[in-house]
Amino acid sequence: MVHEEDQVEMDQVEMELWYIITRKQQLQSRRTLLLELQGFLKNNNFREASFMRKDDQELSELEQIEQEIQILSERETELRNAKEQQSSITEITESSSATVQKPTDEELSSTTPEVVEVVDLSFSPATVQCPTCQQQVITEIQHKVGKTSFLLCYLSILLGCVGGCCLLPFFLNYFKDTCHFCPSCHTEIHTVPRI
Ligand SMILES: [Zn+2]
Repeated sequence: MVHEEDQVEMDQVEMELWYIITRKQQLQSRRTLLLELQGFLKNNNFREASFMRKDDQELSELEQIEQEIQILSERETELRNAKEQQSSITEITESSSATVQKPTDEELSSTTPEVVEVVDLSFSPATVQCPTCQQQVITEIQHKVGKTSFLLCYLSILLGCVGGCCLLPFFLNYFKDTCHFCPSCHTEIHTVPRI
């Protein structure tokens, strides 16, 4: 695995290398141009142009270019070496980290169950943080007669049910509300109405 810092360093090296290469090309083409101009001027017996003249301590443009190219080349070699070292380090860390087995997503999900919000509880047990004892627990569920059961009972009476089937909503869990309890402190956490 490539460390982020190393990656940033690599990018900086790449950028500086790219800059050096571009600048060197620029300088080299300028030098070629100056040399050609110098030759032309000499052949035609012109007096020395400003870029060739040496004023006391000042360097001519050609010499300045030569110097800059020299500095850039040195820096380029330095950077290339640093880059090689960096990539070899990266290879080593990559090969060493490859031996460490990473847990798969499945393993992770089995060890750290998804904690749901109390209000997001459904009709099946889920992992929540108990609001009373603050523990992370898997809820215990119980089915309670709620308004759904009563509603269905009235509805079946209205439809002319007389054989006792109007009482079915009170016995079938499917029509009851789901109540979540904390297995630790046994308090009621949340009730999920059927409708
Ligand atoms: Zn609790």
